[in-house]
Amino acid sequence: MGSIPELQPEITLSPATQLEPFKVLVVGGSYGGLSAALNLQDLCHGLPPRCGEKPAEGEHLGGPQFAVDITIVNERDGFYHVIGSPLALASEAFAEKAWVKYDEIPGLRSPNIRVLQGTVQSVDLEQKVATYLAHGSTAPPSELRYDYLVAATGLRRVWPVVPQSLRRKQFLFEAGDHIRAATTAKHGVVIVGGGAVGIEMAAELKLVHPQLKVTLVHSRDKLLSSESLPDEVKDRSLELLREAQVDVLMSHRLDRTDEVKDDSGNKCLKVHFTNGHTLLADQVSMAVSRSIPSTTYLPSSVVDEEGYVKIQASLSFPSDTPNSDAHFAVGDLVKWSGIKRCGAAMHMGFFAATNVHQQMQRQTAGTEPKLLELDEIPPMIGLAVGKKAVAYWPEGGVTSGEEVMKAFFGDDLGFSICWNHLGLGGDILKAV
Ligand SMILES: Cc1cc2nc3c(=O)[nH]c(=O)nc-3n(C[C@H](O)[C@H](O)[C@H](O)COP(=O)(O)OP(=O)(O)OC[C@H]3O[C@@H](n4cnc5c(N)ncnc54)[C@H](O)[C@@H]3O)c2cc1C
Repeated sequence: MGSIPELQPEITLSPATQLEPFKVLVVGGSYGGLSAALNLQDLCHGLPPRCGEKPAEGEHLGGPQFAVDITIVNERDGFYHVIGSPLALASEAFAEKAWVKYDEIPGLRSPNIRVLQGTVQSVDLEQKVATYLAHGSTAPPSELRYDYLVAATGLRRVWPVVPQSLRRKQFLFEAGDHIRAATTAKHGVVIVGGGAVGIEMAAELKLVHPQLKVTLVHSRDKLLSSESLPDEVKDRSLELLREAQVDVLMSHRLDRTDEVKDDSGNKCLKVHFTNGHTLLADQVSMAVSRSIPSTTYLPSSVVDEEGYVKIQASLSFPSDTPNSDAHFAVGDLVKWSGIKRCGAAMHMGFFAATNVHQQMQRQTAGTEPKLLELDEIPPMIGLAVGKKAVAYWPEGGVTSGEEVMKAFFGDDLGFSICWNHLGLGGDILKAV
């Protein structure tokens, strides 16, 4: 991820044909949605987009300015650093940091940006109107009219992969209860599923609570078995986990868990595996369920049979759907190659913002839009395993160690890297 350039706005005149501010609706306020909203904010102010190429000294990368009203709708009341979940659900101090309410994010403080907490329930592509239900409201859904829409609602993930609370306050209780239950465990915690999420959950728990017995079980003979990554990544991940003192049981498929009493008469769980092996634990966390796209509000013509949005390379909705060049999708919910990653979500948000800005120019000045298009994305990964990380991308090959951890995640599981990349600290808007 690149750093954000120091920006100086260059004044250009808005096209005379724009009578009303453009209305842009961003559904989902996580990595992809915030990137789309804030890169568009830059472009509409004549600034180079924050997630784009850094302009050379004296070079001007901005374009025409437009008045724009950006509405972001999100179910949670703040930006939640999803990547940090394994640590947020192991450390109460980190949980405090991992969720920042939108009204406390300086980068979103601008008269033309508003964030609504609620759920978008439907979208009419032809009329360009969405229905939205405000969080906690008993009133009927209200309508949001828009000129451009960016869908960035990601995947629905189950507990304890991510917290299910929608308000920060409630989340802190949820995380606190979970952490206390895990850390008072005498027999330890079993995490089922050796994909990226299970690996990180096990490693973070052991890192924060070294006295705790943490066991990761996986049904196959390699970790990360459903990812098309080189075996070296999978083997290195196993080595790092064992180095981090996590007990790893490979080729163990969970059969069932029974509530039993231990030798001291205390309640605990007996975990049975299909190979006959059993062990006692106080907590069993499932990290196996498939996450599903949160796209039920979109017409079925836009999504595939699993619910992923069938984007064009420009991130627009399929060309045979109404107003496809006014509708974009970014992040985990798109049907595209590559492992789902937050870096990809932010990158797509930047592309969508650029393409919306191009469409605004077409609409007002009749120019042919120069659209950014996604290439195929090869499998790549950065995985935190306790104090170390393992990383793989085609040009870099496999690397691992503490310096890889530092480069990919800093010292807060990537929170500051993402916060700074998205300019959530607000330095960029202050320049406007
Ligand atoms: C435990 C864990 C660890 C991870 N670690 C890494 C990592 O190390 N590196 C990496 O690159 N990636 C990692 N990922 C993947 C990364 O988190 C995702 O790629 C990223 O979150 C995708 O961002 P997004 O903006 O597309 O969607 P999401 O982050 O899923 O956000 C979608 C947002 O939309 C909101 N929403 C959903 N439906 C609606 C609706 N109908 N109306 C309004 N709002 C709605 C949700 O509340 C949410 O805020 C990890 C994921 C998990 C679960």
